Amino acid sequence: MSKSSIENRLDKVNVFFNDSSLLRNAREILSNIRDIERLISRLGLGIGNARDIVALKESLKIIPDIKNLINGISILQNINDELFVFSDLISVVENAIVDEAPLSVRDGGIIKSGFNAELDALRSISTEGKTFIKELQEREIKRTGISSLKVKFNTVFGYYIEISKSNLSSVPFDYIRKQTLVNAERFITPELKEYEEKVLNAEGKIKEMEYEIFYKVRMEAVKEIARIQSTAKAIAYLDTVSTFAFNSVKNNYCKPEISEDLEIKILNGRHPVIELIGVHSKSSFTSISTPAPRLGLSKDFVPNDCELNEQKTFLLITGPNMGGKSTYLRQVALISLMAQIGSYVPAENAKMSVVDRIFTRVGAADNLVKGESTFMVEMQETSYILNHATEKSLIILDEIGRGTSTYDGVSIAWAVMEFIHDNIKAKTLFATHYHELINLGEKLDRACNLSVAVRENENEGVVFLYKITDGGIDKSYGIEVAKLAGLPVDIISRARGVLKELETKNGQKRTLQKPGISPEQLKICQ
Ligand code: ADP
Repeated sequence: MSKSSIENRLDKVNVFFNDSSLLRNAREILSNIRDIERLISRLGLGIGNARDIVALKESLKIIPDIKNLINGISILQNINDELFVFSDLISVVENAIVDEAPLSVRDGGIIKSGFNAELDALRSISTEGKTFIKELQEREIKRTGISSLKVKFNTVFGYYIEISKSNLSSVPFDYIRKQTLVNAERFITPELKEYEEKVLNAEGKIKEMEYEIFYKVRMEAVKEIARIQSTAKAIAYLDTVSTFAFNSVKNNYCKPEISEDLEIKILNGRHPVIELIGVHSKSSFTSISTPAPRLGLSKDFVPNDCELNEQKTFLLITGPNMGGKSTYLRQVALISLMAQIGSYVPAENAKMSVVDRIFTRVGAADNLVKGESTFMVEMQETSYILNHATEKSLIILDEIGRGTSTYDGVSIAWAVMEFIHDNIKAKTLFATHYHELINLGEKLDRACNLSVAVRENENEGVVFLYKITDGGIDKSYGIEVAKLAGLPVDIISRARGVLKELETKNGQKRTLQKPGISPEQLKICQ
């Protein structure tokens, strides 16, 4: 919430935004860095293996390149100061640990040869042993004349000589029987036993020793934990600001001005996600809608302005289903969030005040297991917002009171709107289907009615223009949207008939000048 910290970060983003070669190099270098924080914490907790330490070393090797890259850029100097160089640790790991280390740290195969003389000596016993076995087998074949004789090893019996049943008569007297199989017998000799002890001892010792060396190397890294963490944090910061810059260049964002006053002024703002993945698939909507007009910034996304200030704190947005109300609400909240994390924003121009929190009530959810219906959840969320929001908050309310009868719903929405406007005074965007609220929007000083524009004519049917305009709209076009969604034709025409009947009845009773307001709602106005 600190204006100066946000501005400082925006300025850092700006450095990358304005220098395409710096941006490209930074992203290239950073892409080779692994998650250092995670690696060092695994090593610190004693669960990191040799692969973690190699990955850490490879990442630490890149740091001098980063330092060089940002060297001399004064606004990035404090980040550069937090980037440490770990030459000693890198050379220890480089000399000790093999590049393609196994997962297990207890089974050897981790330490490079040449790093420890004792380990190398043990290893040569083990490798020489393999030659010894080969020679022994050849010797015994010669001595016994059994060409199929084999010297083998398994973990239960260790080393043994296997002779097939047909050759048992040629077995020498010094062979000691170990095991009988269906087709063969297994023997040992004193020489083989002695060798086995030597090799197995060496192998056990090698594993132990490798683990000990690995442990020491790991401790070398752990000793540096504080400096490594600080470096990781600085790298994460650079990653963040350079990625913000990259997205800003790629998606045509602007640097927001952080305002001292309680105001939001967005010129041609866009929804950062919908504009990228594209607006709805047109195929299912061609029957009544044509694509929105191109306004230049992104393919089919229609940008919109937003203005909130001390004189205008509450925007009430009415308009048809599928007209773009939710998108508009969310894009304003996202732009506010993006600006406050120090990112550029999807708009042509934006002046954003710092908000203390962004509260949202959107979508419908229930928690039936806990005994909470959709309406209950909606009310709980609304209640939370009303109890916590302040004058400095931004609230987006996407429909309130929908999960109950119309009169209940409109009454709650009405009272919530008045309460936020009169008491909390938070900057609020409220999308609603209750056209009755338009009246309240006109009555409250700091409220303003907005709507999403639609064009309707005989040939085209209903065309959504996605443009936010002044004033309220008292039509929902719910039946048109139901038709688009594929409801059977009979139901659609029946629904039209029922609607006509209801409207005629209401029309006869209507005593208000405002369209769409029934006598029951009049009571609320009064
Ligand atoms: P509502 O809340 O009024 O029912 P939504 O905001 O859910 O409408 O919008 C419905 C669809 O219309 C979105 O999924 C999106 O594809 C499209 N849409 C919304 N706003 C825009 C816009 N500004 N430009 C282009 N398409 C949009």
